[in-house]
Amino acid sequence: MLHLSSQHLQAIATHAERTYPEECCGLLLGRLERQRESIPDDTRTLVEVWATENAWTAEVSEAMKDITAQTIELGSTKMSRFWIDPSDLLRGQRYARDRQLDIIGIYHSHPDHPAVPSECDRSLAWPQYSYIIVSVQQGSAQDLRCWSLDDRHQFQPEELLTVTPSPRSL
Ligand SMILES: [Zn+2]
Repeated sequence: MLHLSSQHLQAIATHAERTYPEECCGLLLGRLERQRESIPDDTRTLVEVWATENAWTAEVSEAMKDITAQTIELGSTKMSRFWIDPSDLLRGQRYARDRQLDIIGIYHSHPDHPAVPSECDRSLAWPQYSYIIVSVQQGSAQDLRCWSLDDRHQFQPEELLTVTPSPRSL
C-alpha cells in the first residue's frame, strides 16, 4: 500500500500533461514503514515527488536490447519509453538521504495508453519499488494506478491511500 496526498497526485498528473505526447518520469521519495510492527511490510509513505528528465535515446535503446531482448521494438522513442539517467538517480538518492528519505518508487506516464505496465516496464522493474503509472489521453491525465512486483516478478495492483480526495478527481 502506498500512502500519498492529492497534491502528490496532482504533481504527477501535471508533469505528465506537460511532457505529452512524450512519457514523463520521476522518483517517489518517502519512507518504508517496515520498522513499525502494526503496519504491513510493504506499506510506503510518499513524501515528495521528484521529477526527472526522460533520458531515453536511441543509444539507451541499443544498450537495453541485451537486457530485454524481445521487448523493445526498434525505433522506440520517448513517446513510448522512459529512462532515468543514472546521474539523476544518484542526485535523487543524495537529496533523499539528506532528508532521511528513501527512493520508494518510480512514476511515469503512458501517453494515449492505459495506466498498465508494459512488458518493458516489467523487465526493468525493481522488486522493492512502487510503480505509479498515469495514463494521459489527448493531453489530459485520466487515470493513475500503482503497481508493484510479486515474488514471480509479475506486476500486481498496489493500493493507493490518499489523505484527501481520491485519484478519480484528477
Ligand atoms: Zn510504461
